[in-house]
Amino acid sequence: MPETPTAFQRGHDHDRCVRHALSAAADHCREAGLRLTPLRRKVLQAVWRSHHPLGAYEICDALVAEGDQVLPPTVYRALDFLERNGLVHRIASLNAFIGCNQMGRHSNGRYLICSDCGSVAELPPDELLERFAFEAGAMAFEARSVRLEAVGRCAACAAGTTGP
Ligand SMILES: [Zn+2]
Ligand SMILES: [Zn+2]
Ligand SMILES: [Zn+2]
Repeated sequence: MPETPTAFQRGHDHDRCVRHALSAAADHCREAGLRLTPLRRKVLQAVWRSHHPLGAYEICDALVAEGDQVLPPTVYRALDFLERNGLVHRIASLNAFIGCNQMGRHSNGRYLICSDCGSVAELPPDELLERFAFEAGAMAFEARSVRLEAVGRCAACAAGTTGP
């Protein structure tokens, strides 16, 4: 039986997801010579609060609630940095962000969006996306990012289990 992505597993050890993501991000930035400033780290941490995509304003509100006096443009700039460097991905159809669980500066991605619980899981980029980008290139179109978003229902929602 195929494995259920962690994002859809109710009651999983999410602290573990957060710890792993933040330490992988720190490693990635150190290796790539990028500056993970305290603000960028806080924004990344806010995005990782759950597997539900967060919009820029929600992130801003979360930081303000924690006592940080940040304005939306500052958060936008931090998100832009995180997205450009593959630490977060923007879910286009929701205009919201999720943390990347396979750190590696990939701009192509496949996303499973559960419209019942709102969680989003990421699948690694595959040859389908590469072929799409390749065909775009053959038409002299430089595809900077190729994404596929599947909207539907996760196994936990289909089974009727409740909870985050
Ligand atoms: Zn998690
Ligand atoms: Zn990713
Ligand atoms: Zn669901």
